[in-house]
Amino acid sequence: MDLNSRLFDSIRIKPTCDEPKAADAAGCETPGCKLAGLYRAPKGRKAEGQYWRFCIDHVRAYNATYNYFDGMNDAAVQAYQKDAVIGHRPTWAMGVNPATRASKADGGEPARDWAYVDPLGILRAEGVGGTKRRAAPEPVRPRHSAKILRALDVLGLDETADTAAIKAQYKVLVKRFHPDANGGDRSFEERLRDIIKAHDTLRAAGLC
Ligand SMILES: [Zn+2]
Repeated sequence: MDLNSRLFDSIRIKPTCDEPKAADAAGCETPGCKLAGLYRAPKGRKAEGQYWRFCIDHVRAYNATYNYFDGMNDAAVQAYQKDAVIGHRPTWAMGVNPATRASKADGGEPARDWAYVDPLGILRAEGVGGTKRRAAPEPVRPRHSAKILRALDVLGLDETADTAAIKAQYKVLVKRFHPDANGGDRSFEERLRDIIKAHDTLRAAGLC
């Protein structure tokens, strides 16, 4: 289009009388101000697209105190500002579990069904919940002598038994095989003797 054409000029310089006042003809809306309202200032939230008209001084004053979030509580403001930063889009694909996707992608074992509560994979990384412990291997347990293992076996325990377990088990077995607990029946005497002997062995080794 030729903007310098005579036709275009004629349109521009011939406003009709019905036309609303040109924007720059309106006065500043500050009461008492006689200057032209050359500057627009947004009226605010829930009045989007509506503007006050001010002179330069009054638009500056208005802008200095203008608060778009006036009337919104803090949570709403934060939510709005956060949405503005991320472009009002969800940051993850809805319905897709990142943990599941990641484990399939790297060929690892499928994520367990609790993985949805662990989108960052923190629990998986630490091996909590049954996945392999890669970072923290099992602590090396002291190797017991055959004598100790035999004593533990008499008490019905294995090499993983700690002091508390040994003490508790001993208490249970003594009570079970003691003649006083069996109506004076002495048929368990040999068993009880073995238990006491085993306990002595473990105590001598400092295990209980
Ligand atoms: Zn003014």
